[in-house]
Amino acid sequence: ARKRVIISACLLGEQCRYDGKTKEVNAVIDAFKDYEIVPFCPEAPLFGTPRERISVVEVDGQNRIVTDSTQKDVTSLLEDEINSFMQLHKNIDRIILKSKSPSCGYETTPILNDKNETLKLGSGIAASMFEKHYKDVKIESELDF
Ligand code: SF4
Repeated sequence: ARKRVIISACLLGEQCRYDGKTKEVNAVIDAFKDYEIVPFCPEAPLFGTPRERISVVEVDGQNRIVTDSTQKDVTSLLEDEINSFMQLHKNIDRIILKSKSPSCGYETTPILNDKNETLKLGSGIAASMFEKHYKDVKIESELDF
């Protein structure tokens, strides 16, 4: 069987970003020609495209995902979506996620305080959940290609 790679859908040319654009990276697409590609985007199916931007905000020492202008906490919606995805896709060999995203970013995402200031760089909600679930798979980003 072919090896399987999860790739953030916006890196594959899908116009699923909050602004309705893509962040297609040809080097990523080329690198995985021989793989079965499993596109992943938790935000577009939940919130549509285009959509209000979301951010990671640290609240009482915990990361929450909050919409930027309406300040709605969408953490559990995203958790449910990502859990469903992980249940469907158990055997995975590689994971390539878009850097800096509140969902996909791995150790590159701004973590904000309640005054909208960046406290540090950390991981988005999907990257954090994947790291725990797919324990033996290193998380890479488009910046590695
Ligand atoms: Fe979707 Fe992740 Fe790309 Fe954001 S970074 S558009 S959540 S695939």
